[in-house]
Amino acid sequence: MSGWEKYVRRVTPYTPGEQPKIKDKIKLNTNENPYPPSPKVEQAIKELEIDAMRMYPDPAVSDLVDAIANYYRVKPSQVFVGVGSDDVLAMSFMTFFNSDKPILFPDITYSFYDVWADVFRIPYETKALTDDFKICVEDYKTDNGGIIFPNPNAPTGAELPLEKVEEIIAANPDVTVIVDEAYVDFGAKSALPLVEKYDNLLVVQTMSKSRSMAGMRIGWAIGNEKMIGYLNDVKYSFNSYTMNRTSIAMGVAAMNDREYFEETTKKIVATRQKTKERLKKLGFVFPDSKSNFIFASHPKYEAKKLFEALKEAHIYVRYFDKPRINEYLRITIGTDEEMEKFFAFLEDYMS
Ligand code: PMP
Repeated sequence: MSGWEKYVRRVTPYTPGEQPKIKDKIKLNTNENPYPPSPKVEQAIKELEIDAMRMYPDPAVSDLVDAIANYYRVKPSQVFVGVGSDDVLAMSFMTFFNSDKPILFPDITYSFYDVWADVFRIPYETKALTDDFKICVEDYKTDNGGIIFPNPNAPTGAELPLEKVEEIIAANPDVTVIVDEAYVDFGAKSALPLVEKYDNLLVVQTMSKSRSMAGMRIGWAIGNEKMIGYLNDVKYSFNSYTMNRTSIAMGVAAMNDREYFEETTKKIVATRQKTKERLKKLGFVFPDSKSNFIFASHPKYEAKKLFEALKEAHIYVRYFDKPRINEYLRITIGTDEEMEKFFAFLEDYMS
């Protein structure tokens, strides 16, 4: 080992889902939306002026902050925007999780949380989900340095009822509780109304899933003004120009098209319902999903083998080779046609 390597910040990085380059494929592995962004987003790109790219974007991202504040009926000073919710979450870890006590999150959850905790040297403790993948609220009533969990959870898709979310927030007034709502728009209840009631709550959302904009990298946090102020202080101490002009313009257009957003999320929820019924018929078991994916296991077929066979057929789903979940596949809800092909493969595989 070279001398300088002693001073390297070593981390085991997060592994994102595969983005295969091949053309003909069914991609159900990274919870993207199968529908294109709103036509208004396309219009917004056409209206972009190339000359404006000479200049830095607005560091305060005011247009997008205003559009989000307007949509959710909060003050612009309660909104923080970042490069995808991953950026918003990373900034939030840095800003709010600075206790010597461990932060808490579920053992089965978004696999970026432990990576951020490691990279920022934040002590953490995981709390085991029940065997049917439920969060035990009592586990979050111990002394801690902060709490984070997704709702619905990932990769299980299971929703924690809002009363229980509130119970966790109320039991922890002295630390920040972050509710990661990346998948909330597919039928779960948002904790946003609780922001008025609890000054320790930060709600994080994204345009990547329900607004079909994973490629533009737009996420946000909503909390009380003081919290957002602290987040901005950290952001401006790191990189002031996080959001580029194209993302800002497209984000505003997406946020303002409520009708298209409601229409596409409704379609996904309908396809999810049909998918659940067909999976059940084939003998799969899964926690009830309120997200745009289903976390399914089959008592007779090994998940890893099935994952590989699907991949061979250019159908991509997500498989995690980790304790407790290595017999499950996370299947993103695609279009009806994509799911049809997915089931045609499964029926053939199982016969
Ligand atoms: N939170 C959860 C639970 C997720 O699954 C994801 C998607 N990988 C994110 C946050 C981040 O999404 P994005 O950065 O695209 O907003």
